[in-house]
Amino acid sequence: MKHIKLLLITAPSGSGKTSLIKRLLEEYPQFSFSTSATTRQMRPGEVSEKDYYYLSETEFDQKVKENAFLEWEEVYQGTKYGTLKSEIDRINGLQKIPILDIDVMGAMRVKKMLHDELLSIYIMPPNLEALESRLRKRNTETEEKIQIRLNKAKCELKFADLFDLKVINDDFEVAYHDFLGKIITHFPKLRN
Ligand code: 5GP
Repeated sequence: MKHIKLLLITAPSGSGKTSLIKRLLEEYPQFSFSTSATTRQMRPGEVSEKDYYYLSETEFDQKVKENAFLEWEEVYQGTKYGTLKSEIDRINGLQKIPILDIDVMGAMRVKKMLHDELLSIYIMPPNLEALESRLRKRNTETEEKIQIRLNKAKCELKFADLFDLKVINDDFEVAYHDFLGKIITHFPKLRN
């Protein structure tokens, strides 16, 4: 079994990956969330430096120049997101396992770079209708942005088989136990 140093979670937007990760972090303090940098606006309820490091376009581009990112993507037109190398170092320094919650293209890039050192999990929505309904319920996006996210999701679903494991998120409890069970198989030290 490979020695895994990082947990990479990816999914189309609206697949419910954030809730699965949140629950895992509550139950297993051995993991720590890798907070990404983004140029998008903070949403109501979000906390700076916990949900994201909110950067201006100039600050973000400066970090790109400094080679501060493990990976970065313009996930949506005009909105960049990136994993800071310093964030991974910070979590490693705490002797914890970083969890990356990143988009499918960014995840493929990280997978290529660190394939021996990570476990990658793709969270699937049960179908596109469920995805659409979740995006609407969030009530954080305009109709135009919902359509953009849905079109992107259709493309991203084609890459699901390239990841180590897949979890279908239909019923949350069922999905969480599937998710957890798969993770524990690869991190035997998590067993009580
Ligand atoms: P949201 O704007 O809903 O928080 O996130 C939009 C998308 O950006 C999600 O799919 C999320 O996983 C992705 N994302 C968040 N951080 C990063 C990152 O550091 N790199 C990449 N490539 N995608 C990210």
